[in-house]
Amino acid sequence: MSSTTDTPQTSTDAAGAFVVHPSAAPATDEVRTAALAAPKFGTVFTDHMARISWSQQAGWHDRRVEAYGPLQLDPACAVLHYAQEIFEGLKAYRHADGSVWTFRAGANAARFASSARRLALPVLPEQDFLAAIEALVRTDVDWVPSGDEMSLYLRPFMYASENFIGVRATLEAEFLVIASPVGPYFASGVHPVSIWVAEDYHRAGAGGTGAAKCGGNYAASLVAQQEAYTQGCEQVCFLDSETNTYLEELGGMNVFVVGADGRVLTPELTGSILEGVTRSSIIQLLTDAGRTVEERRISLAEVRAGLETGEVAEVFACGTAAVVTPIGRLAGNGFDLTVGDGTAGAVTTAIRAELTDIQYGRLADRHGWMHRLV
Ligand SMILES: *Cc1c(COP(=O)(O)O)cnc(C)c1O
Repeated sequence: MSSTTDTPQTSTDAAGAFVVHPSAAPATDEVRTAALAAPKFGTVFTDHMARISWSQQAGWHDRRVEAYGPLQLDPACAVLHYAQEIFEGLKAYRHADGSVWTFRAGANAARFASSARRLALPVLPEQDFLAAIEALVRTDVDWVPSGDEMSLYLRPFMYASENFIGVRATLEAEFLVIASPVGPYFASGVHPVSIWVAEDYHRAGAGGTGAAKCGGNYAASLVAQQEAYTQGCEQVCFLDSETNTYLEELGGMNVFVVGADGRVLTPELTGSILEGVTRSSIIQLLTDAGRTVEERRISLAEVRAGLETGEVAEVFACGTAAVVTPIGRLAGNGFDLTVGDGTAGAVTTAIRAELTDIQYGRLADRHGWMHRLV
């Protein structure tokens, strides 16, 4: 994923393998237009979902696009008991000329395959992952909003669907993609968030599932997130579980530290950190611009000292949903520090603009990251 140029996608033909069963009750133009006007993140979904079923005997089969609707699960369905589940998150962007594009979807497909391996789920061929997205976006293309910071958020996921409560890897699975029109992740726009550094909870440990994108990691992070709220902070930052010393990441976003000397740091991938597509894209773009980006262990003590002396100028978080989010305040047991003057710094603002300009087609896509769907 960290390579400069992603493998070209040739999924267009494969998308033809999906049979479309149109919804009998799609949203009316009025309802859809109202939903697109001011979507609240993750609350409204399009008319259809893409789906592929798997069993050990039949392999991947039944590639289809069908009406969005509830799943009927047997109470013994394995995922409800042992959380054998993985997911992805990416967006489809409408450009000014009306065309619709994805950003580095191949990287999401590859990560989905590696998450599947870690969770002992069947590996979905990357072409199927991409074809499912294409088939769904083409079917529901009227749901791709246009407008500043608007996009169609895509949520591929897979779960163990076998009705069996014995403990072993499932022999049946379902892969689905659902889609939700979204505006800016934080309703109040890009404003610096406050971070609580958790010392009593960790999201992942050595040999665990931290590098896989699975629901279980999120379940493990929620109580720490609640603690952050009670401490008056919006998000939580986790430290390494072995020494409680080094920054890892937020519950669902990677983290960067910008020095006053212009150098940029981000925690190295240790196996317990999720390798974000946004993270690797930012490393690439900053390197292109001639900046030094160091991937290494960053201790909380180093960041605290740097904030006190002014050697640390900016801290930001990044991920597909919120893109780049400035961090204005860092607090934890025994400290409460303002980052810079508490507002978004110059590097944070510039990298956010560069990334979104590429995604929305306002800037040349020199790495071949964009792929046209419509
Ligand atoms: C998804 C995710 C990220 C961000 O990854 P992107 O590919 O940039 O969206 C970071 N951390 C965690 C734990 C995640 O689940």
